[in-house]
Amino acid sequence: MGSQEVSTVDWQGKHVTVAGLGVSGIPAARALHERGALVTVVNDGDDERARAQAAELEALGITVRLGDGATLPPSTELVVTAPGWQPDKPLFLAAAEAGVPVWGDVELAWRLRGDNGKKAAPWLAVTGTNGKTTTVRMLASILEAAGLRTAAVGNIGVSLLDAVLGDTEYDVLAVELSSYQLHWAPSLRAHSAAVLNLAPDHLDWHGSMEAYAADKGRVYEGNTVACVYNVADPATEDLVREADVEEGCRAIGFTLGAPGPSQLGVVNGILVDRAFVANRQKQAQELAEVSDVDPPAPHNIANALAAAALARAFGVEPAAVRDGLRAFRPDAHRIEHVADIGEVAYVDDSKATNTHATEASLAAYDSIVWIAGGLAKGATFDELIIGAAKRLRGVVLMGADRALIHEALTRHAPEVPVVDLDRTDTGAMSEAVARAAELARPGDTVLLAPACASMDMFTNYNKRGEAFADAVRARADESA
Ligand code: ADP
Repeated sequence: MGSQEVSTVDWQGKHVTVAGLGVSGIPAARALHERGALVTVVNDGDDERARAQAAELEALGITVRLGDGATLPPSTELVVTAPGWQPDKPLFLAAAEAGVPVWGDVELAWRLRGDNGKKAAPWLAVTGTNGKTTTVRMLASILEAAGLRTAAVGNIGVSLLDAVLGDTEYDVLAVELSSYQLHWAPSLRAHSAAVLNLAPDHLDWHGSMEAYAADKGRVYEGNTVACVYNVADPATEDLVREADVEEGCRAIGFTLGAPGPSQLGVVNGILVDRAFVANRQKQAQELAEVSDVDPPAPHNIANALAAAALARAFGVEPAAVRDGLRAFRPDAHRIEHVADIGEVAYVDDSKATNTHATEASLAAYDSIVWIAGGLAKGATFDELIIGAAKRLRGVVLMGADRALIHEALTRHAPEVPVVDLDRTDTGAMSEAVARAAELARPGDTVLLAPACASMDMFTNYNKRGEAFADAVRARADESA
């Protein structure tokens, strides 16, 4: 079967176990039930919310078993799981033993696309440790500028199943995929895909860096036109080499330097394409200017090049790449410029929740007062600080694991002044901003890029970023 054809499954009377009530489980159970499958939902939790959700599904005729997500119902022919469920759970071991396939939410959406008579749009897929959401949004913006009917979907927070089964017809989908989703998506075959970068993350879930990389690499399997990799991150190119792709599919690199043949890159402040041109040995096509990308930080130019590569693989014209990048605005809390106060810029990168992301944002500024700390999730900070030490004017630390960062600073940047905030109340962020302002000199950037998760002090990274922005704006108002 050609990779872009739609596969059909006869669901009538098929025993399907859906693992997990939740954002993906409930729509999956409904969709399968509507197609005649005999659905049993199993769920670990048995709280009030789960019972209310169970009651709704049971009213439709779906069986729900609360408080036992471990046992595989004996007649199960297929398991459809929430992507976050860890692969070593007893339910999956039992499925493997019984030879029962396990699909995640992405695999289900892939298999159901087109079964409602709608055109099955090809997928342009993006994964990587950092930059996925930004790149997928840039890609959707470019595809829209080209006049295509599209949407940014997947791990970005928009259900693929909704996109595939809804009423809207798409020409192409810009799909963000997490490593969990890829793990459970054995037959997914994207038109083209990009792995932006690979750094250790979620290793507790995958078991090892090799397993994590292998799951990311699944995104290239069966690509038909282009496998897009990061020239600066050879591990991504290795994944292309290992992938089994369709005849004629090309490996396309992106680089912040001058591009070689079959690459996109940057020459004299211009994003250029030396891959999708008639003569790639001699010719390069101008796509956009670095200043068309917001913000024009190096890692974000890399995201723009990856998005451009996927769009060009889909046949989008250069002018639409430029227009789409110009129209793109970054999501909140991703290197978001909040205010300038007395020649000091205040930037909110609360979304930098791991060291790899923080490394990128620290690389984007010359002289920084860095606000960091929170939950380290097992990370170490030595490399990050060795790389950034020269650019640090000072550091303000907060949160549960701040001592880990402080120790690394003492080891590798002992001359950099550090303020250690021993408070977690709601006023802590205001004090962090005030102390950072004291350290800053004209021309500096005060950068919130915590390298840590936020949940020790805030509900999520959005709230952390809002607390920072509120504190900065209050100071801006005072100084106005
Ligand atoms: P994801 O969806 O992969 O979490 P986002 O686009 O939401 O990625 O960006 C998350 C954070 O990662 C940003 O706040 C930024 O600090 C950092 N980041 C974005 N793009 C890159 C990149 N290409 N390389 C490294 N870090 C990046």
